[in-house]
Formats: sequence, structure tokens, C-alpha cells
Amino acid sequence: MASVRAGMATDPGRVRQVNEDRALAGPDLFAVADGMGGHAAGDVASSMAVDRLARLVRRPRLTPADVTAELAACNRDILAAAQPGTARAGMGTTVAGLVLVNVAGRQHWLVFNIGDSRVYRFVDGQLVRVTIDHSEVEELVASGAIAANEARSHPRRSVVTRVLGMNPPPEADVWLFPPTPGERFLICSDGLSSELDDPDIAAVLRAEPIAQAAADALVARAVAAGGRDNVTVVVVDHVVDTGSDLEEDTLRRPRNQVSVVVPGRPHSGEAA
Ligand code: MN
Repeated sequence: MASVRAGMATDPGRVRQVNEDRALAGPDLFAVADGMGGHAAGDVASSMAVDRLARLVRRPRLTPADVTAELAACNRDILAAAQPGTARAGMGTTVAGLVLVNVAGRQHWLVFNIGDSRVYRFVDGQLVRVTIDHSEVEELVASGAIAANEARSHPRRSVVTRVLGMNPPPEADVWLFPPTPGERFLICSDGLSSELDDPDIAAVLRAEPIAQAAADALVARAVAAGGRDNVTVVVVDHVVDTGSDLEEDTLRRPRNQVSVVVPGRPHSGEAA
């Protein structure tokens, strides 16, 4: 049977007083949300996004349209809560994640993102970034105005162009992958990708075969490298199981029987 093991770690970093990142780690939906907004409203927005997405967990025969509809509902909820003139005015959040969906009778991973939190896929020792940041800097790189290696130090690197909590509503980018035993996904807030470059991230993923150990090591490295932002990581391993064919097995088996082991780790994001 399809076997997924996930690990999650988060840290407020060395500068910020409040952790406005939130994460969801399983059993069939994994996400990171990085909230923003004055007076600590960012954690309200990121919590709203994660709580809303949690409604999709274990929903039978989830489709890509269900996921994009829930993200649209998240956007409406956050806008409605961000009343002008209140402390929550202008709050918003990124979201990036990974969820098992049913497409034409088969399970697929759906990767989604709005904003500059990222999803990477790590397979055969190689790290490939799946998502494209919705940020000013990513657009400058795409247009050739700056080089990719200048993006991480650019003064406007944290300016996002799409968030949940926007009007007009932001469109999520989505990708579908057939599940492949042995693959690993990494979901992270920009507190990881702004401190570590992709080769550093790949080195940790190669060195740490256990999902929770990899998540812990990535967060520790980002904090040691400066920790200038909240840093949150979810690592999802699609474990190789011998003796059964994944696709046949998952077609027969209700999705809620996909086995998941998420090692318990307190969400330190609750700490101020
Ligand atoms: Mn951030």
C-alpha cells in the first residue's frame, strides 16, 4: 500500500518575536502558510488558511477542483475578517502544499501555491523546485532584469504578488504528479529558502533519510544561517513498499487507509 511518512518543524528564528508561519502535516494533505499583516494579524491569516484546508483531509475522492474551491473560500474568509480600520486590515498569507487527489480514477499528488512559500520534489538525489514564487523578485528574474543568484539578496525579495486575502482573488498555480515510491517532497516558507540555497537544501535531504530528521535539520540550518524570518518545513516521503503495486492498490483501497506516520512534534509556531 502507499505509505507516506512526514516530518514537520518550525522556528520563529532569531529576529521575529512571533511565528506567523503555520503548517499542516498529513495524513493526505501537507501545507505551509506564511502570514503577513500588521499587529501580528499574519498568524490569524495563516491559521485561517491551514484550518480551512484541514477540512479536506481524508475527504474521499478529492479532486483538483475541490482544492482550488477551498483556496478560493480561504481567500473570501480572510478578506471578510480583514476589515478596514481594524488591526486585521490588510492581513494575508501565502500557502503552498501537496495533497492526494483523484484524477480519472487514479491518485495523483497535486502541488499548489499562492505566494512565495515553495514546494520542491527530491527524487534520485536531485532537488527540483516545482513551484514558481509569486514575488516581485521572481518576475525580475523571469524578465532577465536580475540573475537568479541575485534574487536571495535582493532588497525586495520578500514582496509577494499573490496572497490569500487579496481582491481580486489570487489564482493558485497547480501541478499534478503520479505518485512514485521513493520520492520526497519538501514544502517550506521563505524563511528556509532565503537562508539556504538549493544545493544546501539538497545536501541536507541527501544526508537525512528520515523525514522528521530532515525537517529538523533544515530548520536548524536556516536558524544557524541567520534566522531572519520564521522558518517552517514539511518533508513528505513516499516510502517504497515491496510486494504490492501502488496504483492497483490505491485504486482498490479507500484513501483514508493510506498509512501515514507523522511523528508527533509540537507546533512551536504557537509560541510567541
Ligand atoms: Mn516568511
